[in-house]
Amino acid sequence: MCAQLYVVATPIGHLDDMTYRAVDVLKSVSLIAAEDTRQSAQLLKHFNIDTPLTACHDHNENFKIESLINKIQQGDNIALVSDAGTPLISDPGFKLVRAAQEAGIRVIPVPGACAAIAALSAVGLPSDRFSFEGFLPSRQSQRLLQLESLKDETQTMIFYEAPHRILECVQDMVAVFGADRPVGFAREITKTFETIKKLSMQELADWVAKDPNQQKGEIVIVVGGNPVQKDIAQEKLDTLLQTLLAEVSVKTAAQLAADVLGIKKKIAYQRALTLTQSDDE
Ligand code: SAM
Repeated sequence: MCAQLYVVATPIGHLDDMTYRAVDVLKSVSLIAAEDTRQSAQLLKHFNIDTPLTACHDHNENFKIESLINKIQQGDNIALVSDAGTPLISDPGFKLVRAAQEAGIRVIPVPGACAAIAALSAVGLPSDRFSFEGFLPSRQSQRLLQLESLKDETQTMIFYEAPHRILECVQDMVAVFGADRPVGFAREITKTFETIKKLSMQELADWVAKDPNQQKGEIVIVVGGNPVQKDIAQEKLDTLLQTLLAEVSVKTAAQLAADVLGIKKKIAYQRALTLTQSDDE
């Protein structure tokens, strides 16, 4: 009988963020595959979970996958955890999940904490569309190239950064995104020194440079999308819709505009409605 693979999120700081279901699943499975068994052992001890642990990290994932898949196929339910937060999100696990899917094994997510989503939920930047960018390259030349490629992005972008690189990373962001770009800074989320702020890119660079405490702990940077590009996109949509609305219904205009600009029909429809209403006023 084939068993299941559970992908279990764990807290990113505050242990009370562990979900009841995560505890139940970790107690009930035969084996827990962990990024770092010593780190996870502490979490398990706190919740009185005595399920055996096995290491599954970037360096042994390829070799470990086959034996984990075999165990599941023989009837052992297995849970995957990382050191903190949601596995696979800048953490190992992707190859195991892909292998399980390919072997026809049911993969069950047990959702919980994720630093990216926690930061986005609190910094006060648009959350309707966002991209997760993970860690930027550590070499400055590559980091600048990657930031350049994101310069015109109109949606909110979420980055993870290590404390020892935070200052140079933010300084590079000032150089590429500009001093005025809004940015959210979320440090030590759910922990004693939790700090969450929204400010301009230049203000953030100055603050982090001046206060060494801001260069400590775990950090998420949330960058607002490019407002100029947003305006251009909005202008293009409005011009097209106005031309179409002179000839066809709101529904058809929205469908055509969505097809031409490659955007969601719902967005085009809502904008078309707004334009027709403002014409009526
Ligand atoms: N899988 C994790 C998740 O779901 O968020 C992320 C793991 S990644 C290896 C670690 C990075 O996540 C840190 O360098 C930091 O950027 C971010 N992070 C994790 N915990 C955090 C916290 N409590 N506060 C702020 N950022 C955090």
